[in-house]
Amino acid sequence: MSSPSTGAAQYTAEVYIGGRFEPPASDWLPVLDKAAGQPLGRYGNASAEQVDRAVATARRAQPEWADTDANTRCDVLRAFAAELERRRDELLTLIIRETGGTAEKADEELGQSINQLLNSATQLTENAGSILPPYKQGKMSLSRAVPLGVIGLIVPWNYPMSLAMRALAPGLAYGNAVVLKPAELTPIAGGQVLAEAAHAAGVPHGLFAVLPGDGPTTGSTLYHHPGLDLIHFTGSFEVGAAITEYAGRVGKPAVTELGGDNAFVVLDDADVDQAASCALWTSLWYQGQTCISAGRHIVHRSVADAYTEAVVERVRKLRVGDPLRDTVDLGPVITAGQLARFHEGLVEPSIAAGAKVAVGGGHDGLFYQPTVLTDVTADMPIFREETFGPVMPITVVDSEAEALELVNRHRTLMNSVFTGDPLRGYAFAQRVASNEVHVNDGYARHGGEGQLASYTRRQWIGVQTTPVTYPTWAQGS
Ligand code: NAD
Repeated sequence: MSSPSTGAAQYTAEVYIGGRFEPPASDWLPVLDKAAGQPLGRYGNASAEQVDRAVATARRAQPEWADTDANTRCDVLRAFAAELERRRDELLTLIIRETGGTAEKADEELGQSINQLLNSATQLTENAGSILPPYKQGKMSLSRAVPLGVIGLIVPWNYPMSLAMRALAPGLAYGNAVVLKPAELTPIAGGQVLAEAAHAAGVPHGLFAVLPGDGPTTGSTLYHHPGLDLIHFTGSFEVGAAITEYAGRVGKPAVTELGGDNAFVVLDDADVDQAASCALWTSLWYQGQTCISAGRHIVHRSVADAYTEAVVERVRKLRVGDPLRDTVDLGPVITAGQLARFHEGLVEPSIAAGAKVAVGGGHDGLFYQPTVLTDVTADMPIFREETFGPVMPITVVDSEAEALELVNRHRTLMNSVFTGDPLRGYAFAQRVASNEVHVNDGYARHGGEGQLASYTRRQWIGVQTTPVTYPTWAQGS
């Protein structure tokens, strides 16, 4: 692999099955450096035969891994983390080029991936179930955490490495096999690199497979495969809904992490400068292309002008460009299709309906100027749909109750509320329907607890240690 600083590395994202790399069944397709628009590498679509072989090989490898002692599994996961750490400089450059994010975003992504491996390596040594009360005299009862088997993992392009790792690391840690399909836009950081690092770390052959390919070809074949014990999907609502429907029909567990039209609320007593800084961070980080980006700013009328001014002043100073070659705050939008989806599909129709551009609104190729829209009403497309782009629509309300009603009108993942009174914020947060709410802040990192439950099933084993007197009719006397 050539030096990261040259920016010239060419990668091949191959199919990885049974501890061996092989070409895809299809022709090669380019993987682009998103800012430069030049090929960074290549990938292809794994075929149905390759999906089938990956799942069958994973099924064969999984039982022995599940029986492997905890210290050995811990060592393998730590070696996996060390391998990513060893390649840190190269991988940061790769993530910048493949996702179009800044160096800070790449650092966050690689750091989350390494930490997830280290956390899972520790967690697997801590808890393998519980001892239950003796429901019957003389009966020892255990609730044992048992691996699910083979996990089919489908991941999007925005955080290709860390969103794969959030299921891969705990999945492997708790004794499962994992068959990963990375996003077609990011199969190198999200697939090839993980396969190489796992291979070098001694993850047993077959236990982890990588199948690059697009959604309708490789992704659909994977999630329909009868050999999976869990389908784990992160991505759009539409695909997630189809997977949930399928999983329900065949009686298979599915975990879906989908998008949301998240809100950022500024109440009348908020510190406007603090709110404006946080608003830029939660709306524009990685060009607004995260599932928890704030896509609707719901602001009390009494602070709306000051808030808008503070936001616009900050946005005017932002630099947009190639994050590898220039000093910038925002990189390119991932593809022309994504840009057209939010610009032509949401921004332009909202402007036609009366929204005003306070700053931004244009783009040079994929380099979209961060945009603030005012006079946005709840019936406009930019308010009603997840934006997934660097746009901050501001909607003015007259009361806290009105703000709350607007927040809860849409499906959201994470919301923020700014207020000078944290307890008022707490009371507001309690009435917000999302699973995550932050008072006077944006987002936090993924938590580690709960992963044992997500990647194992419980088996109750009761051991009767003293003789039981069964009913006389059962004793045959
Ligand atoms: P997407 O659903 O189009 O693609 C995600 C993954 O699914 C990709 O690997 C893709 O190849 C695959 N896929 C697409 N069609 C498929 C099909 N028919 N069958 C099987 N697999 C298929 O989503 P995207 O546009 O790449 O990502 C953006 C979306 O992901 C946004 O809605 C965002 O909010 C969401 N997201 C959610 C989270 C979260 O943690 N909740 C994190 C990141 C992104």
